[in-house]
Amino acid sequence: MLLRHTTTEIKERKALTVNPAKTCQPVGAMYAALGVHGCLPHSHGSQGCCSYHRSALTRHYKEPVMAATSSFTEGSSVFGGQANLLQAIDNIFTIYEPEIIAVHSTCLSETIGDDLGQIVAKAKDDGKVPEGKHVVQAATPSYVGSHVTGYANMLEAFVKYFSFNTNEKIRQVNMLSGWVEPSDMRELKRMAGLMDLKTVLLPDTSDVLDTPMTGKYTMYPKGGTTVEEITSMGNSMATVAMGDFATRKAAIMLDNKCKVPFKMVDIPIGLKATDRFVQAMALAGKVSVPDVLTEERGRLVDVITDMHQYFYGKRVALYGDPDNLLPLIEFLVDIDMKPVYVVSGTPGKAFSKKALEILAEKVPEAKVQNGASADMYLLHQWIKQEGVDLIMGNTYGKYISRDEGIPFVRTGFPIVDRIGHSYFPTVGYTGGIRILERILGALMDKIDATAPEESFELVM
Ligand code: SF4
Repeated sequence: MLLRHTTTEIKERKALTVNPAKTCQPVGAMYAALGVHGCLPHSHGSQGCCSYHRSALTRHYKEPVMAATSSFTEGSSVFGGQANLLQAIDNIFTIYEPEIIAVHSTCLSETIGDDLGQIVAKAKDDGKVPEGKHVVQAATPSYVGSHVTGYANMLEAFVKYFSFNTNEKIRQVNMLSGWVEPSDMRELKRMAGLMDLKTVLLPDTSDVLDTPMTGKYTMYPKGGTTVEEITSMGNSMATVAMGDFATRKAAIMLDNKCKVPFKMVDIPIGLKATDRFVQAMALAGKVSVPDVLTEERGRLVDVITDMHQYFYGKRVALYGDPDNLLPLIEFLVDIDMKPVYVVSGTPGKAFSKKALEILAEKVPEAKVQNGASADMYLLHQWIKQEGVDLIMGNTYGKYISRDEGIPFVRTGFPIVDRIGHSYFPTVGYTGGIRILERILGALMDKIDATAPEESFELVM
């Protein structure tokens, strides 16, 4: 009994979150910055913050995550961190030679009122930013939003700084990706390639956080969206932005600044969301959908048909990030599972409204909550009141899974107790097959482990 203090009775809580279903803004800002080539993330705050952000990412991706810090002391906490950041910019460009420093703020620097824009401008005026190098900044106070908000803010900062419309339209489609694994980013590019589309994907952590072992350490791996590519996004035909919470801000910035129209779609998780992504890309690039993608879709439909009897009516509890949960809920509903409980720590009224719309027809009894009060404790209380057949979410669900004896599929961020998840995509049609295979595996493993001997089957 790891969570022995979770009560079945739910009492209204206004000022207490227990085991939040989110992490802090700078973690997202750091992940987005790692998806830009030659970029070193910089945390403007204490060393402890930066260590936490780095370790959160390192533990999930099992790759070294480099980042610098303004290393606040008591003095900077009282008098402001300008001197520390100016010194840091100077040191970083001299010693570590990145193309870009992506500075994000923290709770502390926001609370004392440091103005990142003003400090970065002073660094340029003082000659601390070498010719051809860049410093991009984003405000990421962690007492609002979540890691998804930080990701969105940093993405917006990149296009605001780099993208320009030079009135030379190019046959190119921008892809703004919500928070997905490096393998998912590779899969998005593969699918766009099958459609014969020239694209720029921002951010792109493939070949950054899944680099091959070569025996030689490279501080700035070959992956990541390049400065030239981000600049060219201002001349693209259109933008396809995946995930409202993570990418809408950047899409609007590109539209307002460079007059590049955008289409919002979900992250392509599951059948319908992938259909919408493929259609949006085809429309944006003025191309038709190739047979090879239609065949991939057909394979997913075939697998759904084969597995459907095992999924029908199974109750699921989910938690995680809004952009990933919405298409996943839709996918589960499409295969006749019942996502009865959904929580997300990321605030934003649009999430619960949209989730309930997806669930209204087939799972009207579903409970959905997001924001500060939507935590793992509440999810556990709901499960205690009326059980579920499956839990889906990040590593933190393993406690509930173990206590209640419920099958568990790890998905989302962070997954810190397994290795390999970041190498297999869950987006697109083939990613959909992987999700189904893992769900069925978890359900069948429980049957195998608990079935009486007379009904322990070899062939299922
Ligand atoms: S103090 Fe704020 S920015 Fe730093 S680790 Fe904690 S939540 Fe994140």
